[in-house]
This record gives sequence, structure tokens and C-alpha cells, in this order.
Amino acid sequence: MAFDFDLVVIGAGSGGTRASRLSAGYGARVAVVEESRLGGTCVNLGCIPKKLFVYAAHYGEDFADAAAYGWDVGPRRFDFARLRERKDAEIARLNGVYAKLLDDAGVTRIAGRGRLVDAHSIAVGERRISAEHILVATGGWPSLPPTPGIEHAITSNEVFGLERLPERVVVVGGGYIAVEFAGIFHGMGAHTTQLYRGELFLRGFDGSVRRALAAEIRKRGVDLRFGADVTRIEKTRAGLRLALNDGSALEADAVLYATGRAPNTRGLGLDAIGVKTGPGGEIVVDDFSRSSVPSIWAIGDVTDRLALTPVALHEAICFARTVFGGAPTKPDHRDVPTAVFSTPSIGTVGLTEEEARDRHGDVLVFQSSFKPLRHTLTGRDEQTLVKLVVDRASDRVLGAHMVGAEAGEIVQGLGVAVKCGVTKAQLDATIGIHPTTAEEFVTLRQPVAAL
Ligand SMILES: Cc1cc2nc3c(=O)[nH]c(=O)nc-3n(C[C@H](O)[C@H](O)[C@H](O)COP(=O)(O)OP(=O)(O)OC[C@H]3O[C@@H](n4cnc5c(N)ncnc54)[C@H](O)[C@@H]3O)c2cc1C
Repeated sequence: MAFDFDLVVIGAGSGGTRASRLSAGYGARVAVVEESRLGGTCVNLGCIPKKLFVYAAHYGEDFADAAAYGWDVGPRRFDFARLRERKDAEIARLNGVYAKLLDDAGVTRIAGRGRLVDAHSIAVGERRISAEHILVATGGWPSLPPTPGIEHAITSNEVFGLERLPERVVVVGGGYIAVEFAGIFHGMGAHTTQLYRGELFLRGFDGSVRRALAAEIRKRGVDLRFGADVTRIEKTRAGLRLALNDGSALEADAVLYATGRAPNTRGLGLDAIGVKTGPGGEIVVDDFSRSSVPSIWAIGDVTDRLALTPVALHEAICFARTVFGGAPTKPDHRDVPTAVFSTPSIGTVGLTEEEARDRHGDVLVFQSSFKPLRHTLTGRDEQTLVKLVVDRASDRVLGAHMVGAEAGEIVQGLGVAVKCGVTKAQLDATIGIHPTTAEEFVTLRQPVAAL
């Protein structure tokens, strides 16, 4: 049977774009279907605009700290609309870059919403397209609890399009997106409250990191509350009124829900053709990203493995190699370094102390908390945390964690070492770069007692 294409990809986000381009590079005839803007969540509503907002938010502190270094900074005013316009222009530029990358690779772009029709064809509106292989890379979508009045809340999908900076913001959620936005709003000058219903936010991160970040966020002035949840949201003349589970109420101008994301599989037609999904709607795939229907594959957030852009890219590379490159390749999800662009930021790779104790039993923990050099002059009460988790028997570094400025930049390098199986002795034999925060990772000498 002759197919229109060798591969049709649904979704031109991080994973879908990379898979399309690489597959075309192997000589496949490829089409990619996208219902929104090219580049997906990361480019349009995720990593990139978020990081630009984080930069914007940091200037507030930097201006305040400048005085200690001899700089007098004049009157300060933050123009949110100007930031948004400049951010929009940059993202429009990136959309163009994605279009060019796809065009240059010879990938056919199809605008519209794709739906599976059978194991080898999809529909986009009235149009039918057949392909030997179909790759689903439709990403994720914010999920909201059924709280009364939830229609008054915004999610990360709307936050980047706000017309103006709200004066009072409530962020609901305890994942990395919630923590990042609490820092962004606070840094931009909004009165910020963060509510998380659990005991401590950032579940899955190392315990010391979670506690250290909570302390730093509170010191900065964010009203961070644990065990707190919203039971009702009402629109009032002055803005929004949030009833809380302890009987109290909060007034706000905006409430941002960052309470998790669900795989974007609704309306794709997966069930009808027998593509298995998991309890959260995620497409169930094997080690090579193949679904229960052999011609249908899935990568990225829609598979709910590790919802990060570089992971979606990695899965895309493995997919293209496997299907068109003649070299079956399994994605490797171990020791993926990651950052949280909170204020201050988190960088982490490998196992948390808790995971390491569970899996390896006898582990040594090396940890240091100190005032960064920069703040010796500013007097800002900020502590940086660095931590290593080491397997006692093999001396192997199982995890490296940090809370402090530029944690992502620092831990990326350590990520290479951890991936290569670095031992504590090898870190000890490494000469530090002085004076830096990063050098602390190679000068931790005494293990701390078990927490
Ligand atoms: C606020 C926020 C901040 C983030 N920050 C970071 C970060 O700092 N670092 C990081 O690594 N990750 C971050 N992420 C996660 C990252 O954005 C995702 O992991 C990544 O985009 C996943 O790529 P993907 O290819 O799976 O899906 P996506 O990039 O989401 O792309 C899916 C694409 O499919 C399209 N689509 C969906 N359904 C259809 C359909 N039926 N037909 C046609 N098109 C369809 C969508 O429009 C979208 O363009 C962040 C996410 C959010 C929400």
C-alpha cells in the first residue's frame, strides 16, 4: 500500500519538531500537523517566556543590591506591558525560526487539529493523510481542580498574555511552575501569596532543597502557606475573593493555578483504534516509544515520562534513529539534570537523599549552607545550599543538589560527571574555581550526620 508520507507527526512542539526534522534528514517523507503556534509549549507558553520573565523579575533585587556596590540607581518603575511586547516579539521570531527549520528540512507543514482515524491515517478537518508511521507529540495541558469559581482563575496558558501586572496575586500549587511564578510575581513587585495544600512543596525534590527553598522564599517576603487550599473563588467589585480551607479569605487581583498538567490526548481518537492510555490519559509506550498499535509512536509530555523539553528532544532523537536511522535506540531517563527557576533557583541531578537511602541503604551526605560572596556586601540574608549524596560502598556520587543563584548553570556541568559515574574521590581531586559557588561541590570534606 502506498502512503502519502512515511511519517506524520501530530504536534510541532519540542519533540514533534525535532523528530520531524531528523526523520526527514534520514530521507523520510514527513508531514507535521500543528493546531497552534510552532514550537509548542516550551517556546510559546513555557520555558522561554518563563525564563524571560524570571530575568525581568530579578532586576528588582539587583537594583536594590546595587547600592551596596556603590551604584546609585534612579527612580524605578516596572512596565509589564513593555516586557510582554518584547517577549511577544522574541517568540514570534522563534516561531519563524521553527518554520524555517522545518521547511529547510523538507518537512510538509499542515495547520490544523490532527485526529487519528486508523493505524495509518489521520484527519485534519476534511483532509485525510496516510502514513506508514504516526508520531503523537501533542504535549500536555494544565489541569484544574473542580473548585467552585475556578473559571476566574488563570493558568500558565494565560499568564503570559496578562494585560498588566496584578497588584495582588495568589499562586495555587506546589510544583515547579507554581514556585517559579510566585518568584516572578514577587520580583516584579506584586504582593504574592503561594498556597499549597500539602505539607511541603516540590514533591520529588530532595528534602533539604525543599526546606531551604521554602525558607528563602519566605525571607524574601512571599506569603508562602502550606496545608492551605482554596475552597471557593468569587468575583467581587475589587477583584477576586478566595475562601480558604481554614475559614479565612484572601483578596486578590489574579489567581494563578499551577496544579499540574495532564497529557494532551483528549479528542485524538486513541481509544477507537486501540492505542492504550494510562490512568492519567498518557499514551502507554514501550522502551522505544512505540504504542500498543505498532505503527503509532508517542514522545514527550503526552507519554508522561519526564515532562521536560530536553527529554522530549532526546526521545525524538531516539525515535528517528530507531524508525528511520536503522539503529534502534532507547531513550535513557536516568540522571536527567533539571533546574527550577525559582528565586533563588534550584539545580539537581540524580537521586535525592531519600531515594538514595531507599535504593542504596548506606549513603553519605555532604552538605554546606553558606552566605554567597555577593551578599557579604549587600547584607541580604540569603543562604546557598550545596549537597552531594554518595554511595558509601562504591564512593559513587548518586545525586547533586543546589539552591542558590545560577544553580541550573552549575548543576549542568555536574550532570555530565554524575552521568559518567563520578566518584566522591574524583570530585575531591578536582581543583575548584575560586571564588565561585560551584567550587563548594569539590571542597565538601566531612559527611553530615543522617537527617
Ligand atoms: C509554564 C511552563 C514552564 C516550563 N518550563 C520548563 C523549563 O524551564 N525547562 C524544561 O525543560 N521544560 C519546561 N516546561 C516543560 C516543557 O515545556 C515541555 O516538557 C515540552 O514543551 C514538551 O514537549 P512536547 O513536544 O511533548 O509538547 P509541546 O511542546 O507541548 O508541543 C505539543 C504541540 O502539539 C500541539 N497539539 C496538541 N494537540 C494537537 C492536535 N490534536 N493536532 C495538532 N497539534 C496539536 C500543541 O499545540 C503543541 O504545539 C515548562 C512547561 C510549562 C507549562
